[in-house]
Amino acid sequence: MAMLTVENINVYYGVIHALKDISFQVNEGEIVALIGANGAGKTTTLQTVSGMLSAKSGSIRFQDQEISRMPEHKIVKQGISHVPEGRRMFSNLTVLENLKMGAYTRKDKQEINNSLEMVYERFPRLKERTRQLAGTLSGGEQQMLAMGRALMANPRILLLDEPSMGLSPLLVSEIFDIIQEINKQGVTILLVEQNAKKALSIANRAYVLETGRIVKENDAQALLHDEAIKKAYLGE
Ligand code: ATP
Repeated sequence: MAMLTVENINVYYGVIHALKDISFQVNEGEIVALIGANGAGKTTTLQTVSGMLSAKSGSIRFQDQEISRMPEHKIVKQGISHVPEGRRMFSNLTVLENLKMGAYTRKDKQEINNSLEMVYERFPRLKERTRQLAGTLSGGEQQMLAMGRALMANPRILLLDEPSMGLSPLLVSEIFDIIQEINKQGVTILLVEQNAKKALSIANRAYVLETGRIVKENDAQALLHDEAIKKAYLGE
């Protein structure tokens, strides 16, 4: 069943037509990847779903509710949590303070504490660094913090923008393992990645974006063996 349905959205930056009639869907429980070259529109797509940007036309439905005109905090409340490109945390605040910010739309203290415990269980390295300033964390730890903060909103779907960016191969593997575990625990994933090979290796399905349009859609395994995809995106 479709959890998120994006239909014919068009997004502009001034006169630049960044997303051209983009349509895709994410079913409950899936990991769906959006792959494409620099500037294809991946980040813009995630930002539009999470309400940071608004589409000029088209529709975005989440669990049968139209969300394309909703303010960001209401979208978070519906169960959509965004881990932005570059992680964007509050560098001068501690790990704990950053995590608590992630729960800004929630009220129940006990439930927030339960989420915090879950995040610390999932990311023991954050627990060890609970009072450390976020700006002093390593790249991998910052990615964990960004994901932990998003999980503090108790999302149904997580939008991940380039989680592998700037990380060593070993850390990339660790982060991708964690993404799979989060998914197994019931959180649907929409993943944007430059590292198409990695993304396809954990995704169920994927869409390929080229200059603001979706040019291909298939099972991730099929795309991994698609000659054109191999040449263009997998470095083979
Ligand atoms: P990358 O991996 O490099 O971030 P992307 O696929 O995520 O690429 P977007 O960042 O979504 O691509 O960019 C899509 C298009 O919109 C690009 O042509 C980009 O130059 C343009 N664009 C993005 N942000 C802005 C902005 N703030 N103002 C003007 N144009 C923008």
